[in-house]
Amino acid sequence: MRHLSGAIVVLAVWVAASSTNSAPPRPDDERKTEEEIARIVGYSMTRGGASAFLETLTDTIGGRITGSPESQATAELILKSLKEAGLENAHFEEYELGSVWRYGRATAELVSPVHRSLYIGSYGWVPGTPGPIEVPVADFGAPGEGRTLTPEQVRGAAVIVDQQSSGVSSTYAGARLMIAKQMAQAGAEAMFIVSDKPDRMVYTSAFGFYPRGPLPILSIAKEDAALLRRLLAKGAAKVRLNIENSFGSGPGRERNVVADIKGSEAHEMVLLTAHFDSWDAAQGANDNGAGVATVLEAARILKALQIRPKYTIRFVFFSGEEQLANGSRAYVEQHKAELDNIRAMINTDSGAQEPLGLQLNGRQDLEATTKKLLKPLASLGANGLSLDADFDSDHESFIVAGVPAYELLVKRGDYDVRHHTIVDTFEKIRPSLLGMHTAVMAVIGYQFANANDRPGRRLSHTEVIELLKKTGLEPLYRLEYPDAKP
Ligand SMILES: [Zn+2]
Repeated sequence: MRHLSGAIVVLAVWVAASSTNSAPPRPDDERKTEEEIARIVGYSMTRGGASAFLETLTDTIGGRITGSPESQATAELILKSLKEAGLENAHFEEYELGSVWRYGRATAELVSPVHRSLYIGSYGWVPGTPGPIEVPVADFGAPGEGRTLTPEQVRGAAVIVDQQSSGVSSTYAGARLMIAKQMAQAGAEAMFIVSDKPDRMVYTSAFGFYPRGPLPILSIAKEDAALLRRLLAKGAAKVRLNIENSFGSGPGRERNVVADIKGSEAHEMVLLTAHFDSWDAAQGANDNGAGVATVLEAARILKALQIRPKYTIRFVFFSGEEQLANGSRAYVEQHKAELDNIRAMINTDSGAQEPLGLQLNGRQDLEATTKKLLKPLASLGANGLSLDADFDSDHESFIVAGVPAYELLVKRGDYDVRHHTIVDTFEKIRPSLLGMHTAVMAVIGYQFANANDRPGRRLSHTEVIELLKKTGLEPLYRLEYPDAKP
């Protein structure tokens, strides 16, 4: 790595002392890199800044659905924090949101043949019921199981679909949307999707339903679904539903938050990103308050240490991820003239789980350079690489644009249990893991922004399609980009 003009070199005492021993002298720039990385990691682990920010975010704002006042307040909190830390070029970037949606209260009770309250929750971006309704229940079973319902059974009913998954694989999301459309066309009043969460927890998501789902779609606790299905095997059952969701009258506005640490060659950049919107059953602590807190703290630490990289490090906080990666899609659209200048985008949206390295999203060509750049993270166990690819977060918008796009790789742990449920709360997040995430994101930003070699080049549209085919992501791409050219 070369010396950077104008960079402020802060040498600690031990480095000065170590130069007096008999080891052969090492190049200044190598020593400087080692020293700066040590300081970045040390600050990350000891300042507690990510944890403090996450506590403020979760306690004062909490859940923050795209397009809501809470989402606005979050964007403002992030911008204020970036400005206070002295980041350059800190600003909002606005874009149009296809529709605005509000959670209403959602209640369900079994009224016949016995009376019980049911644990349910609404999916996002689906309509409510026209006031309280009493409807029969029908059991569609699991897709592919071969069960059929007559049109009479579906019309006017709440239909249970046992699609026990909260994943976003193309087959899953595509099937869920297709079934929902068929149920709506057949005149169903509502659709229950059996939750795969433990302990009567329900799940939410808008994936496939944004900008407007075809009917009220409700997650039902698997224990309650099991009761309904047992009763239905013996006879009829009736539920009372009252789902008070509502849509705004037209399209809405949302904002991404952007700030820079300018490099000496400022026009080329590395993006560190996280989405700040969440579901509001809880506080969006792990998804993705943790990612926001770590990217923000990484920015503050790099700034506080007066790091002056070769290329600009840009910190982007997206809104609208939970609907259709709206914020990152808008970013790619608004910055299309400069996508060639993005050397890499590194996204974190896997929660404060133990960091392991980077996911390359199928880009084998990125492997060699990335491996070298992650070397300083070996002692933290965070220098691993995975060729896996997914569309699970905002990196998808950059994969589609051909930009080298990474997702922070973590140990899955209990992520899926908390994901989009009532228990995604602050006290479950370990501050030490937030510190480690901060360290890893900051070092990655530092390394990528000082590397002479690009990790890989931007792919052409044809090469992107090849990559999506190879990684199995093409069906999901077709679902999410129905108007894209083949
Ligand atoms: Zn997320």
